[in-house]
Amino acid sequence: MHIYDYIIIGSGLTGLTIAKKIHQETENILVLEAQDYAGGSNRAVTLNGLTINNGLRFYPATELSEKSMSFLETQVGQEVVADPIENHPETYEAHGFKPFVGFGENPPAFYDQLSYFLTQKELPLTTEPHEWMQILQSDLQDKIQTKSIVTKFVFENLESGAPALTHVLVNGSKTIYARNFIYAAPLKDLGLLLPDDILNQRAKAKLKKSKAWQAVCLDLFHTAHVEKENMFILNGTTDDDIGPCVGRFFAAPEGQISQWISFIESEVAEDTEAIGHVLKKMKRQIKRAFPDVSDSIKKERIFVTPILSGSDMKLTASNTVPKVPNLWVASSQASPSANLLGSLQQAQLVLAALGFGSGIENDTTIPVYEEDVDADL
Ligand SMILES: Cc1cc2nc3c(=O)[nH]c(=O)nc-3n(C[C@H](O)[C@H](O)[C@H](O)COP(=O)(O)OP(=O)(O)OC[C@H]3O[C@@H](n4cnc5c(N)ncnc54)[C@H](O)[C@@H]3O)c2cc1C
Repeated sequence: MHIYDYIIIGSGLTGLTIAKKIHQETENILVLEAQDYAGGSNRAVTLNGLTINNGLRFYPATELSEKSMSFLETQVGQEVVADPIENHPETYEAHGFKPFVGFGENPPAFYDQLSYFLTQKELPLTTEPHEWMQILQSDLQDKIQTKSIVTKFVFENLESGAPALTHVLVNGSKTIYARNFIYAAPLKDLGLLLPDDILNQRAKAKLKKSKAWQAVCLDLFHTAHVEKENMFILNGTTDDDIGPCVGRFFAAPEGQISQWISFIESEVAEDTEAIGHVLKKMKRQIKRAFPDVSDSIKKERIFVTPILSGSDMKLTASNTVPKVPNLWVASSQASPSANLLGSLQQAQLVLAALGFGSGIENDTTIPVYEEDVDADL
């Protein structure tokens, strides 16, 4: 029976940056990926024959985000962002475009998700996220196993009071053993993967109930051009139940691409009617602000992301699951920061806790979680 030093669950940016760092010290690692491709959200996709990013559209410039990008640049081995530039988000109202100054007294329920994209400064990308992923993957080629859904964490001595996590179940039947496990997949799913003796029913119910957000995405290829590069935040004409969407325009041969995003609670994210409702409103908002764009759409791509933020679970100060000192949680939703920043922050925290210098050991801008192992469990 082979025992890996580390199993990393999830081959998104979080899983692969961690795997790359650990791989420098031991080759005895395995990355398990549910899909038939590696890379998670930040992979290349095509729209009207053009290669575009599935994920990233905007990365804010703050002290923290710049430091996190330096960490990523070390892992990727090349510069990925340039110096900060100004972002002046605009909104559309009855009389045209104007600077976005806030939502006043009626912020949307997903205000926190939106505000990330409305920061006044951003770090422009110098290489595309799918290229970062390719570099990370090429270093880890034979260490990534796709079509491998981790369906259970399996413990020995579960009833004895000294449970030990020894292996995972993959695709419901295959067992893979390791000494250490790093979880870089959606936090909410941990409730399904851990037995009740580790995460009790109350904690699971809390995790299940916690408000988590998924994004509804609309990528458009159109022949009409909008020359501005800032973010646009579009609101409806009426205060209905669906909030605004945020998006921007990118240059493309023979036209232009714009990528729009709104949010939906994960509880209803499988309800096609609810998604259809959000999309309809997004299209209405785009048509109102950019009628030429709307009239010249040649191709569209619609999808709903996995959970991007939210979920509530108490971890130890080392970012392990309470009672399981060899299961580290690197999911971005475990970070107080959102999106890519949350991913990079959590990856750095886990690496630091594992003793793999991520260059942040003395960095006071990295949040430290309070030790609170069982209060709410
Ligand atoms: C469409 C979109 C737009 C975005 N836009 C921005 C943006 O503009 N700015 C920004 O900062 N951030 C943005 N983000 C968020 C950012 O891309 C993510 O925070 C980051 O990529 C998350 O990386 P990750 O590795 O944590 O998760 P993911 O990339 O989601 O990877 C998780 C991986 O785990 C796998 N997995 C899940 N469950 C299991 C299991 N049980 N067993 C094995 N494997 C499993 C999944 O298949 C997936 O490949 C966007 C994300 C999306 C999807």
